[in-house]
Amino acid sequence: MTASKVALWQRELAAAVRDPQALLRLLDLPDGNTSSKAAQQFRLLAPHSYIARMKKGDCHDPLLRQVLPLDDELQVVEGFNQDPVGDQHSVVADGVLHKYHGRVLLVTTGACAVHCRYCFRRHFPYSESNPVKAEWEGALAYIRANPDVREVILSGGDPLTLADERLAVLFRQLRDMPQVTRVRFHSRLPVVLPSRIDASFLQLLHEIPQQTVMVIHANHAQELDADDVRQALAALRAAGVTLFNQAVLLRGVNDSVQAQADLSESLFAHGVMPYYLHLLDRVAGAAHFEVAETEAVRLLETLRKRLPGFLVPKLVREVAGEKAKMPVL
Ligand code: SF4
Repeated sequence: MTASKVALWQRELAAAVRDPQALLRLLDLPDGNTSSKAAQQFRLLAPHSYIARMKKGDCHDPLLRQVLPLDDELQVVEGFNQDPVGDQHSVVADGVLHKYHGRVLLVTTGACAVHCRYCFRRHFPYSESNPVKAEWEGALAYIRANPDVREVILSGGDPLTLADERLAVLFRQLRDMPQVTRVRFHSRLPVVLPSRIDASFLQLLHEIPQQTVMVIHANHAQELDADDVRQALAALRAAGVTLFNQAVLLRGVNDSVQAQADLSESLFAHGVMPYYLHLLDRVAGAAHFEVAETEAVRLLETLRKRLPGFLVPKLVREVAGEKAKMPVL
């Protein structure tokens, strides 16, 4: 690819911070506040546009906490394992997970624009399962052979880290499958790397005949507090994309009524419906983020008294082997 063909978002992604010490320096924080061992197991990744929304000098900043490797991740805690939601048992073709009726999920890539320390796929064997390798052939053949599949969910990693040319190949094929009525993206890029929502991607969206849905995965109102995020979400809405959010309830990030109320209000102000609030998937390395179910239920009950019903997310958990997200409240 020539330099002139590299999009701004790709340059920003290439320039993302990967060194924990460099991140701490950018935030005027002392060196010792991170763990090199944890960073070796799952490396740090955070774009500058996301870091710009972190508060300098605050080691408890809710955005920093989501990305900074800590010694806490090295604890071995019973009940926390490498595949907490049973993804690897649901693989039906290269990169295709078929867990729920009528929907298939494509693990499109292992790449993300940010590495979230609580990620339930932090141990997923992406290199063994990649539908893009053969131009989506295996995935498309599976969908064709299963006419009850009405919705194709692009997940990852993060599907929007794929270049537009790669996505275009898939969209062209899906266009000829009348059984598929919805294309859903799960992506954190509109939030962590909003320059991804550029004219070229918006043009691609216009070429998809199916309804399009994007679930943006914001966990804290501060993540949305930037003009470029606002513009990216407005552009997606203008392109006809229905926007939902699903958040994870995270200790030290958003485990208060105030944080949840602010998140819901901010999402709605940006045209995004708060949809799910997930209990943490019990992935090895993330136990320090867990909020007990009883505490989560209390939090949601209080939230219900503060917000109109449509701003209260459904509290759910994913249980390996179940055919739907399990409601907790
Ligand atoms: S963006 Fe999503 S898939 Fe990537 S690390 Fe974060 S939670 Fe995991």
